[in-house]
Parts: sequence; C-alpha cells; structure tokens
Amino acid sequence: MLDGYKRDINYLRVSVTDRCNLRCVYCMPAEGVKTVKHEEILTLEEIYKIIKVSAAVGIRKVRLTGGEPLVRLGIVDLVKNISNLPQIDDISITTNGILLKEMGKDLKKAGLKRVNISLDSMHAKRYRSITRNGQLKKVMQGIEEALKLDLKPLKINTVVVRGVNSDEVVDFARWTKEAPVHVRFIELMPIGTSSPWAGDRYVPAEEIRDMITDKLGCLNKESKVIGSGPARYYRLANAPGTIGFITAMSDHFCSKCNRLRLTATGGLRPCLFDKREIDIKTPLRSGASEEFLAKIISEAVLLKPDRHHMDYGWRDQRVMSQIGG
Ligand code: SAM
Ligand code: SF4
Repeated sequence: MLDGYKRDINYLRVSVTDRCNLRCVYCMPAEGVKTVKHEEILTLEEIYKIIKVSAAVGIRKVRLTGGEPLVRLGIVDLVKNISNLPQIDDISITTNGILLKEMGKDLKKAGLKRVNISLDSMHAKRYRSITRNGQLKKVMQGIEEALKLDLKPLKINTVVVRGVNSDEVVDFARWTKEAPVHVRFIELMPIGTSSPWAGDRYVPAEEIRDMITDKLGCLNKESKVIGSGPARYYRLANAPGTIGFITAMSDHFCSKCNRLRLTATGGLRPCLFDKREIDIKTPLRSGASEEFLAKIISEAVLLKPDRHHMDYGWRDQRVMSQIGG
C-alpha cells in the first residue's frame, strides 16, 4: 500500500493489550495506567480479522507489542493463526522477556520467527528500580531461551537514560562481541510519563556512539538488513552481534517509515507521534464487510504524515503502552 508520500506501508504493529507486568519509569506511572474496560479491548478474533484484511491489502510483516504482549491470554494461538496467513512473511514480538522462558517454546512452535527483548540494565538492583520491581534473572533466562530456540535475529532494545543507565552503554556494546545479539540503543522519547524530564535525560545517538568507539574501537557499517525496523546497524571487529541506533529524536527516520499501528482498543494509528486514529472497531463490530474494512485500512495509510513533529511536544493523554510501542 502506497501512502501519500509514496512510502510502501507493509508493516503492522499491533498492540494486543494495554496491560503490563512491569512499570518502567519512562513508560508508565508507578500505579500503572488506568486500564480501559474489558469490552473496549479488541478480542483476539477481532485482531486476527484486522490482520487478515490488512494482509489482503499489502501488509507483509506483523509485530505484536503492547503493553506486554505475553500477558495476553491466547497470544500463542494468535501467533499461530497469523503465521498461517500466506501473505505474512515475518511475525515478531516485542517483549520485556519476563515470561519468555516459559512461553518461548510454544511461541516458536506456533510460528514466531523472532523477538525483540527490552533490557535497560544488566545490574539486578538497577533493573528493579527502572522497571519498578522486575527481576533481571527472569529476562536473562528469557534471552537464553530465545537464543536456544534460534529466534533470530535476537534484538535487545535498550533505552539510554542519562544518569540512569548511560554508564552501561559500553557493556551492552561489548555483549555483541560475545553473543549473536543485536543491541539497539533507543533515544529516550518525551512520551507519556517521561515527557516532563526526557529533555534532561535524553542521550543523543551520536554521544552513545562516541562512548562505544572510545572504548571498543571502530564501528563498521553493517549493510545486511536486520529486520524491517528503523535502526542503523554497525558491527565491532569480529563481533557475532551488531549495534543499532534508533534515532527518533536526533534524526527521524520518517521518510523510510513503512508502518501502521493498531491500538489495543481498535484504533488504526498512522503515526506513533500523531494523535489521529481511525476507529476500525466500531465498523468491525457492526458487521462491516472485509472490503469495507480494507477501505478503512487504506484510508489510514493515506493519513500518514510526511514526518513527526515530536520536538513540539507530546500532545496525547495516553502513554506508549496504550498505543503500542
Ligand atoms: N512491553 C514490551 C517491551 O517493553 O518490550 C513492549 C511494549 S514497550 C512500550 C516497547 C518499547 O518501547 C520498549 O523497548 C520500551 O523500552 C520502549 N519505550 C517505552 N517508552 C519509551 C520512551 N519514552 N522512549 C523510548 N522508548 C520507549
Ligand atoms: Fe511494560 Fe514495556 Fe512499558 Fe516497560 S516498556 S512498562 S515492559 S510496556
């Protein structure tokens, strides 16, 4: 599907739940977000139907996210149903990894190809404080399981926050020399709970890069495409893994954006940073035909802006976990 700026939109990011088993400081308030009524959340059958129609009009890659996708009951069956859609050639999950050790095998069997695991610290105490009570051991076991199951490429998402985990950048980078992990450093975005303080704590990718090259030497550009996301990748000499940078703030990648989002409450969101959403749940629940739903999806694609204007501030009441990060 081509949008108004001739970008091919073939990637659907689906938030399967607004709930989460962690409370990362930059993502959610300590008490959690006010969850919406159960009936407002799309059922798994509804999510599947929207993905099926999207696939018929050009979506080829699906990523399940949230909130925490692994806390959604029935997620394994959803993965299985999506992976049986002939048009979908890539199905992945973004997870905090806490439940991955126990669910990894079933997910792989259901057709999951790869996972992105979020991890901001390799120190147990610090991890607990960033996630407000997460256990590092569980994520590390999840990462081991993903490597064992060959869910690859295995990407690690690390949001760098000045004065919180910025001193671990080099350790994360060094990890790519020891294991086939693709560490992606994400610039902190002023979204939701982080909005008031993100400006002071944000570390630009350029600075992260300098920290790495100072200690570990040259970063060679990696030309092989690793997944379908917006990161730019590099490799340290002889490293099995790579280092990526997601520069939503310092150098937006909107001209290459290929994605559309579906929120847990059934809104099609053309751009993460743009408040506009198209309601697909109401027509779906009123029995609209697949042709009509396909038309709504194409309209959402045409609403994609040329670029985001996040530097002007976050205008949404909702936080990342509610939209689908
Ligand atoms: N719960 C899953 C997880 O943590 O991987 C999936 C949802 S989470 C919202 C998706 C990604 O968004 C995570 O990698 C998280 O670190 C990132 N994220 C959340 N808030 C952010 C912010 N303010 N700035 C940058 N990244 C953020
Ligand atoms: Fe949960 Fe992911 Fe947000 Fe952390 S970043 S609170 S794990 S949704």
